[in-house]
Amino acid sequence: MSFDVTILGTGSAIPTVKRGTTSHYVNCQQRHILIDCGEGTQLQMRKFKIKFQQIDIILISHLHGDHIFGLPGLLSTMQLLGREHKLKIIGPTGIKRLLKVQFEEVGTSKLFPIEIEEIEEDTTALIFEDKCIEISTFPLKHRIQTQGYKIQEKLGKRRLLKDEFDRTGISVAYINKLLSGEDVIDNEGRSLKYKEVTLPPKPPKSYAFCSDTAFHLPILESIENVDLLYHEATFLDHESDRAATTFHSTAKQAATIALKANAKRLVLGHFSARYKSAKNHQTEAQTIFENTFIPKDGEKYVV
Ligand SMILES: [Zn+2]
Repeated sequence: MSFDVTILGTGSAIPTVKRGTTSHYVNCQQRHILIDCGEGTQLQMRKFKIKFQQIDIILISHLHGDHIFGLPGLLSTMQLLGREHKLKIIGPTGIKRLLKVQFEEVGTSKLFPIEIEEIEEDTTALIFEDKCIEISTFPLKHRIQTQGYKIQEKLGKRRLLKDEFDRTGISVAYINKLLSGEDVIDNEGRSLKYKEVTLPPKPPKSYAFCSDTAFHLPILESIENVDLLYHEATFLDHESDRAATTFHSTAKQAATIALKANAKRLVLGHFSARYKSAKNHQTEAQTIFENTFIPKDGEKYVV
């Protein structure tokens, strides 16, 4: 089963030809999740071949325009394309009112079913769970309420060693028991230990999204040991004062969070339009955390 993240926009505040505003598409075990929806997200989805109607859940970090101005347009397109199945939207306090006013004022009387869940300020909680994945949220430190998210696989079943199992001659009817970690004895009295024909489950993977935020150590407990960490890095080190006053982070601060969280890989983003390239962001971050990546719009990372 796949778990990958496509970074649809790597810029901050102002969309440019090279960098769209924030939006990430996550496919975790065939659950299709969009995180944030800045202006232009629809076009980025088209460009990078993400199907609109397969999105099940949209997570919104905060209500600044570069993270949400694409949402009314995307919902409108889903409606125009005939969507009938439910969409879940989870975001900070105020998101319900924002969308309600939007659709009332433009005279859209009826949309497909949308379930909106508001997260109260300072919430750390599990907010979604099914048999394969879990999504949790935690507060970031920004000028308005901002939530980070972690998407995590659940521990799967053991894996069958098919050739070894076939050699035993035992009926396939026993496979489920063996995969559940039970030894079996078949009708003919033959016994088989589950460890002889199965491997332990694959370790579950996780992805955390942290944007927008000032350098904020309390997030560490929510993102510890994450496999792939996205952390905003709006500024370079020489603008750390500006980062602090605008409640954003520098590349070095993002790298420090990755190091302290014991993340396996770090992806930076939300680059200020003042920087032509993000090469220096990578150089600065790598002085602290070697495994740092700089995405282009549309780049996909396998978790
Ligand atoms: Zn913001």
